[in-house]
Amino acid sequence: MSWLTDFLDQAACQNEHPSLFCGPGSDVGETKEEKEQREAKASAVCRSCPVRPECREYAGTVLRHGEPTGIWYGQGFETREAERKRRLRRAAYQRQQEGQPS
Ligand code: SF4
Repeated sequence: MSWLTDFLDQAACQNEHPSLFCGPGSDVGETKEEKEQREAKASAVCRSCPVRPECREYAGTVLRHGEPTGIWYGQGFETREAERKRRLRRAAYQRQQEGQPS
């Protein structure tokens, strides 16, 4: 494991099956209801996780490299993507306010 993922040693998801966070795979599939129930369970694990802030930063890094799947720090892709775009807009606004090129 790299320094980037050292926090996972303390993660609440370490004892959970990865499919709880990433789904059963396209060959198995799941209904919309099953997906909602699974993601709710995964989010509950995340709420008790002691390294949620570190996970949030890591997930942001992963997303920048194109990983669109799974529950990270209790949030699904759409929510994380919206947060990432808000961060980018905020950073661009701050650069603009400081007179830096965006
Ligand atoms: S916040 Fe959730 S996905 Fe992230 S390390 Fe903790 S349990 Fe795992």
